[in-house]
Amino acid sequence: MTDSGSTLIILGGTGDLAARLLLPGLGKLLTEEPERRVMLLGSGRKQWSDDQWRSTVREAFSTVDAHGAAVDHVLSTSRYLAVDYSSPEELAGLVREAHGKPIIYFALPPGVTATAVKALQDAQLPEGTVLALEKPFGNDRRSATELNELVAGVVPESQVFRVDHFMGESTVLNILGLRLANRVFEPLWNRDHIARVEIVYDEQLGLEGRGGYYDKAGAMVDMLQSHLLQIMALIVMEPPAELDAADFHAAKVQALRSIHLWRNDPRTASRRARYTAGTVGERELPAYAEEDGVDPERNTETLAELDVEATNRRWAGVPFTLRSGKAIGQPRQEVIVTFREVPHLPERLNGKNRPNVLRLNLGDGSVDLGINVNGSGHPLELQRTHLSADVGPGDLNPYGEVLRGMLDEDAILALDGAAAEEGWRIVDSVREAWAGGEVPLDEYEAGSNGPQWPRP
Ligand code: NDP
Repeated sequence: MTDSGSTLIILGGTGDLAARLLLPGLGKLLTEEPERRVMLLGSGRKQWSDDQWRSTVREAFSTVDAHGAAVDHVLSTSRYLAVDYSSPEELAGLVREAHGKPIIYFALPPGVTATAVKALQDAQLPEGTVLALEKPFGNDRRSATELNELVAGVVPESQVFRVDHFMGESTVLNILGLRLANRVFEPLWNRDHIARVEIVYDEQLGLEGRGGYYDKAGAMVDMLQSHLLQIMALIVMEPPAELDAADFHAAKVQALRSIHLWRNDPRTASRRARYTAGTVGERELPAYAEEDGVDPERNTETLAELDVEATNRRWAGVPFTLRSGKAIGQPRQEVIVTFREVPHLPERLNGKNRPNVLRLNLGDGSVDLGINVNGSGHPLELQRTHLSADVGPGDLNPYGEVLRGMLDEDAILALDGAAAEEGWRIVDSVREAWAGGEVPLDEYEAGSNGPQWPRP
């Protein structure tokens, strides 16, 4: 698809997100779709020249081997402006540099984003201007509501893209195809047939120099509040009639509204821990509390676990456990759906009545279904075997998908304002209980697989 003309304006173009994820996403998209003509404007508080900026863009593009006509166009035309994000005049001046529809991407720390949105209130933005806002969207439910109100004063909701790049992961979107397009799963996708669900996203990485940000967030905010609850929403949502943004967002918000802590008790429904020194793969990691940018007194967790339930007709009584941890030796990134056992097993079928387990690997997209069959030995002896499929990643990386949505005015992968607020509603009471010391902060060695706690 060609663009009638859009300019991607990155606020915070000198930062980590822009260099590591956003620009490589753009490079990949333009390589896959060389007929696009996008203009790129970088901005930041640093006084960079156009050449400095273009070399940052070139370097970021090279990480995904970006090439072709659309890439060359960006590299030869992209410009950089130093901007004070609290100044309405300077921001308006930056937007005036855009050709066609401006897409203003806030790759800024949350506090600076709020300041910049305020400064845009009185700017006369061109028709159709898109605001792209990164996570975390606010820092609790109240601030998310306030940010939504601020944003609504600048552009209509249909022009707001709240980014959760997990929604751009083809491996995450596989959940939809798998559950909705298969007769062997679609009618079983409910409390009558499913006993429990786990959503696990562990990683080997430690802080990677991002202590200043992470220590104020922690695993609960950085991973569960946003990404993992969004994944859960895809699992529990009622099937939308159409996969357009309106139906999809409505179904997702309805799903999120139904999610509550298990037994409504933050003390028993949540667990937290942080890593001590250890070796992850080949790498020695210092204890989290000793990393740069960390204040140990803040008691920030590097691993969080949460038990929740979607209290509705389809899911009541089914525990969902969400878990994410850093510095894990053998990290798992998967959705595990455990089905109920069959109601009756004939006595002569020797062996255990073991439930079917469906595993969706969120890393490589593979799917595995554990089934019971008669074994190769005694004909009536049950054995466990697996049906597996390699799905593989999509053509684009997640930020490429996210940017494609913005350029094509397709908001399906973006978060609705209410969805962003619901994520906070679910975790706010847990964070309060943690701040009040009601849930112990456990420890695990970096490189181990983290604590294994009892679950419902
Ligand atoms: P950085 O700390 O790298 O900073 C981003 C940009 O903001 C830089 O251009 C920086 O300028 C600028 N900036 C920082 N403080 C100020 C200030 N007080 N006034 C004006 N400009 C300022 O952040 P990230 O790039 O890591 O993150 C940006 C956003 O993206 C955050 O909301 C983050 O949560 C989100 N995000 C980040 C991810 C990542 O992996 N980095 C992943 C997912 C989301 P300068 O270069 O001068 O410091």
